[in-house]
Amino acid sequence: MYKFVETIRGRFISSPIRRFYKLRAAHSIMTELLSALDFEDCLRILVNRIASYLDIEKVSIMLVDSDKKRLVVKIAKGPGAESMHNANIRLGEGIAGWVGKTGEPLLIKDITKDSRFVRRPGGKYYNNSLLSVPLKLRNRIIGVINVNNKISKDVFRLSDLDLLRTIADFAAVAAELIRLEGQVSETNKYSQELISNVTHELKTPLATIKEALSLIADGLSGPLNEKQKRYIGMSIQNADRMARMLDNILLSEEFVQNRQKISRNLFNVTDTAKNIMDSMGMLAKKKGIMLGGAIPGKKIEIWGDPDKLNEVISNLVENAIKYNRPDGRVDVMLEDSDRSVTISVRDTGVGIAKNDIGKIFDKYYRVNNSEKKDITGIGLGLSIVKDIVDMHKGKISVESECDKGTKFTVTLPKDLRSVR
Ligand code: ADP
Repeated sequence: MYKFVETIRGRFISSPIRRFYKLRAAHSIMTELLSALDFEDCLRILVNRIASYLDIEKVSIMLVDSDKKRLVVKIAKGPGAESMHNANIRLGEGIAGWVGKTGEPLLIKDITKDSRFVRRPGGKYYNNSLLSVPLKLRNRIIGVINVNNKISKDVFRLSDLDLLRTIADFAAVAAELIRLEGQVSETNKYSQELISNVTHELKTPLATIKEALSLIADGLSGPLNEKQKRYIGMSIQNADRMARMLDNILLSEEFVQNRQKISRNLFNVTDTAKNIMDSMGMLAKKKGIMLGGAIPGKKIEIWGDPDKLNEVISNLVENAIKYNRPDGRVDVMLEDSDRSVTISVRDTGVGIAKNDIGKIFDKYYRVNNSEKKDITGIGLGLSIVKDIVDMHKGKISVESECDKGTKFTVTLPKDLRSVR
């Protein structure tokens, strides 16, 4: 057994002022750690902050490896720091190993007199004073922080140990949060890749199916009776719908990777709106919906990505038709003002419940009620719309009343280059 003359068991009770200073220091480190870019950045911030708060010559952070047998130096600052990177010791070996194994903090005034000390070739210190504290999550020891020598040449005091222990407690939580966040984004990245690959894989066979169906519909494999024509027509329509869904997914993946990429062209948004009205006319007619509105005859020019803004209006009009009822109406309005243009799409459809309104722009969110359950979709359209509007520094809002209808309003600056 070791003597615990220089070892603290349990909590050191400090004065209120010191306690305040200690918590403020730990809190400010925690806040900084939580803004770290990744786990490595988190460790970097931690050693720098410990060095400045405790005014010390050397600090190192060791983490328990995956086999839970060794402690590995992940980062060090001070004399000889470079050579320490990835140096490792068995749990139980040396002073840090003892702390890593027992989970007890240590304050040692002179390490050379401690029997646990393993002498290694290294830099010269002003004195041999050391603090070593465990990084703990609940009762699991994930690492050790070692601190050597005050720059002022004083030996460490209990108050220094207490400060380091508090910092270590906060830091362990912050580091774990950052590590978990890293894992989640890795998983997300993997799922995104998977979705993207599967989507690409599906596109080619789907195009072949559609091609074959079109050849049959055109009578190339012989004449069709009315019933066969109807079935083939329905199959082609569904193949088209699936192709549109795949395009939506791919477009969305593209956004994940190229969030900021939009082309900047000066184009006439009146033409865009008119073309959409023409191409959606058939769909509306088929569903018994009146498509109207107010699109000015004059040219309205804006800077932006014409294809992506076409996608915005098309998605809104398509939804307005899709979530409507026979004999319903859809109106598309385009209003010009000095610096912006406003496009609104109003329908007399099923509407959106208050509880759902805040979620409809989320990726893959679909409202699941009896009226909407037979309407196909994957919940991506509006998240894409929102991304595009954001990229154009515009705004989108929605007003809706169940059973009465919905109105989406998009306001876009005419010259996004002038908007901060
Ligand atoms: P999808 O239509 O594929 O489900 P969207 O992202 O386009 O995906 O829309 C998300 C949800 O918002 C839809 O599931 C639907 O419930 C609701 N929604 C969108 N537009 C309308 C609308 N015009 N009227 C009623 N509900 C709508």
